[in-house]
Amino acid sequence: MTTVLGAIADDFTGATDLAGLLARSGVRVSLRIGVPDAPPSDTAAFEVIALKSRTAPVAEAVVQARAALAWLQSAGAQRFFWKYCSTFDSTSEGNIGPVAEALMAELGTDQTIYCPAFPENGRAIFMGNLFVGRQPLAESPMKDHPLTPMRDSNLMRLLAPQVTRPVGLADRLTVAQGAPALRAELARLRAEGTAHVVVDAVAHSDLETIAEACRDMVLMTGGSAVAMPLPGLYLADGTLSADAEPTPRPDLAPDAVLLSGSCSAMTNAQVAAYLATGAPGYRLDPLHLAEDGPHAALNWLAAQSLSKAPLVYATAEPASVKAAQARLGAARAGEIVEEALAALALAARDRGARRVVVAGGETSGAVTKALGVSQLDIGQEIAPGVPWTFCDSGGHRIALALKSGNFGAESFFTDALDRLAAS
Ligand code: ADP
Repeated sequence: MTTVLGAIADDFTGATDLAGLLARSGVRVSLRIGVPDAPPSDTAAFEVIALKSRTAPVAEAVVQARAALAWLQSAGAQRFFWKYCSTFDSTSEGNIGPVAEALMAELGTDQTIYCPAFPENGRAIFMGNLFVGRQPLAESPMKDHPLTPMRDSNLMRLLAPQVTRPVGLADRLTVAQGAPALRAELARLRAEGTAHVVVDAVAHSDLETIAEACRDMVLMTGGSAVAMPLPGLYLADGTLSADAEPTPRPDLAPDAVLLSGSCSAMTNAQVAAYLATGAPGYRLDPLHLAEDGPHAALNWLAAQSLSKAPLVYATAEPASVKAAQARLGAARAGEIVEEALAALALAARDRGARRVVVAGGETSGAVTKALGVSQLDIGQEIAPGVPWTFCDSGGHRIALALKSGNFGAESFFTDALDRLAAS
């Protein structure tokens, strides 16, 4: 169907987060990994393109975003959303501002909003200052981020050096007065020539006000949460027809495999909880893999019944990860494990696994690449920010759950399998 909203996200997990929130509406959401080579076909009401541009050089991020925009326009989209992290992750040059300005120029619009707030997850904006929980952004752990350290909490000051046109603020006092007041304030700012407007939001109801006031803007920018009310608004005003194609629930064979390459504290707990249920598990040792390759693990998997949803994991405690890294180097240790898990995913699919759960952001990237996945339909959420997805791989329809880092409860692996069984 014709795409109603085209979204561009600056990384894969951000795209999944946005897609999952839009899919809560029950309307079909499709996620593309990178800008598709082919022209649009089989498009959904909501199309999300995941770029990998958060820390790319500015010129490259702009080129990628323009290509994504052109693709979404040819899918029929007339409204667009530029999604970045709720902690406004960017270097002093960009890429949040330069991409927004490039999209505005392409779309011929002279104003957009910036709202990374996600109150449910502790991201609030007051008087243009972003808070992480109770801490200003620049006092939160984000101040030490390895790639995008955030040393200022004021979004206007962060944005101004990234753009060429004036930056302003629509503050909470205006937002609290409701959508008509916010619309009037945006019009006043536009008349003054303010192209880039940071909008305060401290509670979910503020996001509803903002979405209502800005729903007809050709370009909105922000975190995922401010986009969440849009499907409901489009359904209410008929922009999206009530019989729009729903979230798919394909009927898939029950055979499953679980693959874990994340070493986060939560994933360690999730692996332990899953093994404690008596489910079959196999631990990958990076040092063995470096010497002998993945044969032993592949042989183990080949002997398992996939109806029991076996788990293969490299997940380990920090001391063990450090020891492997000291022997192999961090990059090599990571690569060896990712390659092994990717090979195991392919082998399991070829033996009939149609439900695949992957833990780890980088690991997910390696597995989706090996499975040749470029498009995902978003299904129901397993945990906030982690939906089941459905995709084509090697001529088969499969369900794929991609969980990064600390997401999900301790019971995540069983939750994932149960959620799909219940659908
Ligand atoms: P997360 O989402 O938790 O950051 P990722 O998959 O993005 O997980 O990153 C984890 C990295 O650690 C991957 O590159 C993975 O291959 C690597 N890794 C997994 N297990 C081990 C281990 N036992 N020793 C060293 N590196 C490991």
